Amino acid sequence: MATSVVLQKVEKRYGALDVIHGIDLTIDPGEFAVFVGPSGCGKSTLLRMIAGLEEISGGTLLLDNDRMNEVAPAKRGIAMVFQSYALYPHMSVYKNLAFGLETAGYRKAEIEPKVRRAAEILQIEKLLDRKPKALSGGQRQRVAIGRAIVREPRIFLFDEPLSNLDAELRVQMRVEISRLHRDLGNTMIYVTHDQVEAMTMADKIVVLNSGHVEQVGAPLELYNNPINRFVAGFIGSPK
Ligand code: ADP
Ligand code: MG
Repeated sequence: MATSVVLQKVEKRYGALDVIHGIDLTIDPGEFAVFVGPSGCGKSTLLRMIAGLEEISGGTLLLDNDRMNEVAPAKRGIAMVFQSYALYPHMSVYKNLAFGLETAGYRKAEIEPKVRRAAEILQIEKLLDRKPKALSGGQRQRVAIGRAIVREPRIFLFDEPLSNLDAELRVQMRVEISRLHRDLGNTMIYVTHDQVEAMTMADKIVVLNSGHVEQVGAPLELYNNPINRFVAGFIGSPK
């Protein structure tokens, strides 16, 4: 069962700095939502609040119908993939994938099939004995995604996961992440400042600008009917 994410007047302040100004937003179960907007508009902050890595300063955040702050972090079922892969350099790929499950108390016999399945989905089965330094950028990014998959989260959050990759690999990984979404059917929220990623991957695009939502819609809706110049400029439509 996929999970819905609902934001009601969600705000974020860092001291005197007002970063997110009362955002209302619904992400439907199983949806691939893309947050897009210029650098500094609050994409990562929003994602980190949904992940529970950052307190909200105001408003309400619901996962399914539960208030986020009333759900224990371990029960939230959220996995986040960052642009810096943060793999453990001294551990093999297998260990990198297994580590989170080991610390969560799973037994070896339970861990192995989960790791093998994630490795199969990401086509890294042949790399399980390697250390991260013996992997390409794309392979490392797959291991990072694999670490999210093994935990079988309700929601996947991606924060600009491809921005360290070269152009060709970015295209390939885009296709792979879309396939992953099709295969798993989880709710996924993907942050990017890249319009092409947003247009090609999203069920729903959320265009952000200095801490508020400019427009929400399917890629073609935004392209054909941008609400203002900012959205038109950002999505690349002719208005
Ligand atoms: P984006 O991911 O869209 O580039 P961020 O969410 O990282 O934007 O940042 C939004 C705004 O919040 C920026 O002005 C940034 O400087 C500020 N900001 C982010 N994190 C912190 C923090 N921990 N303390 C103070 N200001 C922050
Ligand atoms: Mg960011």
